Amino acid sequence: MKNNLKSAFRTFDSGYRDGLTEEASHSLDLARCFSLVFLHAGCLGIIWVGWSWLAIIVALALYFTRMFAITAFLHRYFSHRTFKTNRFIQFLFAVAASTAVQRGALWWAAHHRKHHQESDKERDVHSPHTHNFLWAHIGWIASPKNFETDYNSIKDFAKYPELVFLNRFNKLVPAIMAIGLYFLGDWAASQWASLQTSGWQILIWGFFVSTTLLFHGTSTINSLAHIYGKKRFDTGDHSRNNFWLALITLGEGWHNNHHHYMHSARQGFYWWEIDLTYYVLKIMSWLGLIHDLKPVPARVLEEGRKIDSED
Ligand SMILES: [Zn+2]
Ligand SMILES: [Zn+2]
Repeated sequence: MKNNLKSAFRTFDSGYRDGLTEEASHSLDLARCFSLVFLHAGCLGIIWVGWSWLAIIVALALYFTRMFAITAFLHRYFSHRTFKTNRFIQFLFAVAASTAVQRGALWWAAHHRKHHQESDKERDVHSPHTHNFLWAHIGWIASPKNFETDYNSIKDFAKYPELVFLNRFNKLVPAIMAIGLYFLGDWAASQWASLQTSGWQILIWGFFVSTTLLFHGTSTINSLAHIYGKKRFDTGDHSRNNFWLALITLGEGWHNNHHHYMHSARQGFYWWEIDLTYYVLKIMSWLGLIHDLKPVPARVLEEGRKIDSED
């Protein structure tokens, strides 16, 4: 019981440099990640709050804007440094991404860098091949093995105290967002009765439903994108290119491309590989918000074309 309380407390303060857990077992610690259980359970609230068009719009808008924050910043910026930006934009998107309840940007990127080093090998943090599908999809995040942030593998960003703060108290921003959504719904209901909404309804749809879908959408890249799809490049792992996953993740579905060449801001290498995140990044660069988007080298594009023409 005491240990469970301690674990639950670590949900709110994940600590800093307190030693990495080198546990070999694939055990789960549900007390420590009760936020994940709470998110899923909260979706049942739709039984009591019903739905409205406003609730659906808020849930979808938050799904896609936060998916962008995850793919563009947690993945392409913090994990792979495929473009540059200033400290303010960096912080802004680290805050936006932390509303997704996928821990802090430093935790996320440190684990993702490890995934690339050991992809589908024994030490891969989330391989559906060396472990199993459920582990790759959700189990790994709930295991003590992967709770800590290895600040050494993300030194380049761990030098910013504001990012370390967000990483350590990573439930703070989601909690503020949840409360904000309640008041937004309550205010909308008081202004326009015809919307047939309420504070609880916007909280359930905008926070619980949207964030749960966002979690599973993101996780498909760790699970499904290492199983289903086309393998253009021989990457030595099981990464795949999958059009449907690219749609729901705004471009991350071109995962075999990405494992072949991870240093470009673009993951859909050709015009027919829809990569919405890259299009938005391009617009942001025209607006001067980000710069130095790294391209896919011509030799990589040529290599891919050659493979496609031989198929
Ligand atoms: Zn990556
Ligand atoms: Zn992968």
